[in-house]
Amino acid sequence: MRSPICFFIVFITFSALGQQPFLGVRQWTALRDESSGAAPHENLRYLTGLHRVPATADFDLAAQFVLQRAREYGLADAHSEQFPIDGTRHYGLMRSYLAWTVEEARLWEVRPQHLLLGDWKTDPIHLADYSHSADLETELVDVGNGAREGDYSGKDVRGKIVLADGVLARVQQLAITQHGAVGIISDMPNQTTAWSGLDTTVVRWGHLDARQPSGFAFMVSRQTAEALRSRLRGGEPVILNSHVKATVGPGHWTVVTATIPGADSAAGEIVYSCHLDHERPGANDNGSGCVTILESARVLAHLIGSGVLPRPKRTLRFIWGPEVEGTMAFLATHPEIKQRLRANIHMDMVGGDPFKNKSVFHATATPWSLPSFVTDVGAVFLDTIRTAASEYAEGETQAETGIVETRAGGQGTRNELIADVTPYSSGSDHDDYDSSTIAVPSLYFRDWPDIYIHTDHDTLDQIDATKLRRVALLGAASGYVFATVTTQQLPTLLPFLTARAEARLAQVFGPAQQLVDNPQLEAGAAWYEGRNLVNQALQRESATLRSIVEFTGGPAEADADGAKVLADQARNFQGWLDRQAKLRGAQERTPTAPWAGDPEAKRVPVRIGEFGPLTYQNDNVLLARLGKERYAKIKLINSEATQLLNVRDQSELYAYEIVNFVNGRRTVGEIGDAVSAEYGPLPVSLVSDYLDACAEAEIIRWK
Ligand SMILES: [Zn+2]
Repeated sequence: MRSPICFFIVFITFSALGQQPFLGVRQWTALRDESSGAAPHENLRYLTGLHRVPATADFDLAAQFVLQRAREYGLADAHSEQFPIDGTRHYGLMRSYLAWTVEEARLWEVRPQHLLLGDWKTDPIHLADYSHSADLETELVDVGNGAREGDYSGKDVRGKIVLADGVLARVQQLAITQHGAVGIISDMPNQTTAWSGLDTTVVRWGHLDARQPSGFAFMVSRQTAEALRSRLRGGEPVILNSHVKATVGPGHWTVVTATIPGADSAAGEIVYSCHLDHERPGANDNGSGCVTILESARVLAHLIGSGVLPRPKRTLRFIWGPEVEGTMAFLATHPEIKQRLRANIHMDMVGGDPFKNKSVFHATATPWSLPSFVTDVGAVFLDTIRTAASEYAEGETQAETGIVETRAGGQGTRNELIADVTPYSSGSDHDDYDSSTIAVPSLYFRDWPDIYIHTDHDTLDQIDATKLRRVALLGAASGYVFATVTTQQLPTLLPFLTARAEARLAQVFGPAQQLVDNPQLEAGAAWYEGRNLVNQALQRESATLRSIVEFTGGPAEADADGAKVLADQARNFQGWLDRQAKLRGAQERTPTAPWAGDPEAKRVPVRIGEFGPLTYQNDNVLLARLGKERYAKIKLINSEATQLLNVRDQSELYAYEIVNFVNGRRTVGEIGDAVSAEYGPLPVSLVSDYLDACAEAEIIRWK
């Protein structure tokens, strides 16, 4: 009997090569094996013990901790900076806010029961941010929602504490400033999700308006508030004793930054961001993002420092500061760094165990006003990790290949990575980076929804060390590509990116067909909107290809082949849409823009003055500059106009993008077309009216 011939088979699965063409197997494996979930998990343990409200002592402790770690991890130029704030000083377009110092705060029910409702020392979340000092014993009055004038009719709240679940700053204005109440007990639902009302024991955060001169608020669970309400309804007087020792006033924001220097100081910087603030424990929002960019930094510093990975051309910068405000203060103070930034990786909520907090992990694209290849890089690595995690979960590979955290015993899960790529979504520092006057394309990673967001249940228990490891790897790999990608890679990367762009362009065809048949639009207008969607998507995808040519400094014609492929594809789509429109009864040879005869739509706006978007968590530029009365007349924003919008909340997204599309060349009509493709058809009169308000506020001028 002949012995069987042994073949040595090298078996390579697709998933093992999933990181290509951006990284080689050796580089990917080095990044994967160095990344840890245990290290960020331990760092998070410390951060979740701090009540990290911006411009407070605990925030500065968190900053100190991150700075110490950055130094231990061998990052260069690690230091912290303080930016003065006083409520009037501006950083770019953004007006600074105020600092808050709390010595102590307690709320007791003293009669008829003796019951502690909140103590700053043990549970700081019970005291609403920017509460002022008070020392008094008084009655509790139920005002229902409390954010509507009618809630106060026939009620005497003067000198009393009100119980309300309306928007806290509005309750403060009505109850305290207008009707003379001294304080508030609130169970305002903050960040509602499908699940958020189910657990009535969670305590949600609240913040008062720091610019109001007085008042305090204590946050309680819905369960506690309902018990108080039912007793008040029964006619039982409830007497409270409140003691708060706190001051609101000028102070500083602290921002920590550090770098891994690139080989060529003229080649620009890649910036990692997160936000270090939020109420204790704030594990997922956003201790998780902070410890994860720190872990990406550790991995990269170690591998580059030890020579395993070649030093990249571009510098890698890491920034930890208060949400949005820290980003604006840092960029306004360092125009030379702002000018060097080429791409951003932003992490805000990245560690949630989806089987606990019900979150999906999203890689979030840049808005249509700033198309960029950065999203493709993140999406490719996300897919690589997700596939590896699934193969491991199915029992096909080892833990290391599945990027499972096993270092600290069994603390990481064996979960799949439940993840996707979504269009732009607003709400964190990436809004600044992506805005047109900063224009640093952001690869934004986030968990959404999270049933424990902004509550005392956002604890370390909800965090999965395996997920932290996977996201740290995702961040490190993406940033390393941004820092190293060169023009020599274009012959491989451009076809790859073109194929992905074709797939995305194809995705708008269905919605374009639906527009052409939309019964709410007249046949000619529907045809125009359908074609417009394909046109704008073509411009977006062509600009995505061009972005990598410009990023690497490649020759101008490098993306010509790809651009032609996309243009041909779009032409086919347009032909099909034309036939469909004719079938519906459209008469014209080509559809004309609904704004073609409108002289206002021919105007060209130009951005002027300071940089930044127009809304921040504590500042609204148009409102501040134009006043309440004029602001309420802006059609895009006021409630009368919202019936014209697809979804009520989209008015903010439209407003953000209208300003971003202002580039000194596009007309009002063209800006209208751009935002109509991105978020659905919008009458150009609303765009024109919004830009008129921007002109009055000296954000733009007419060319
Ligand atoms: Zn956040």
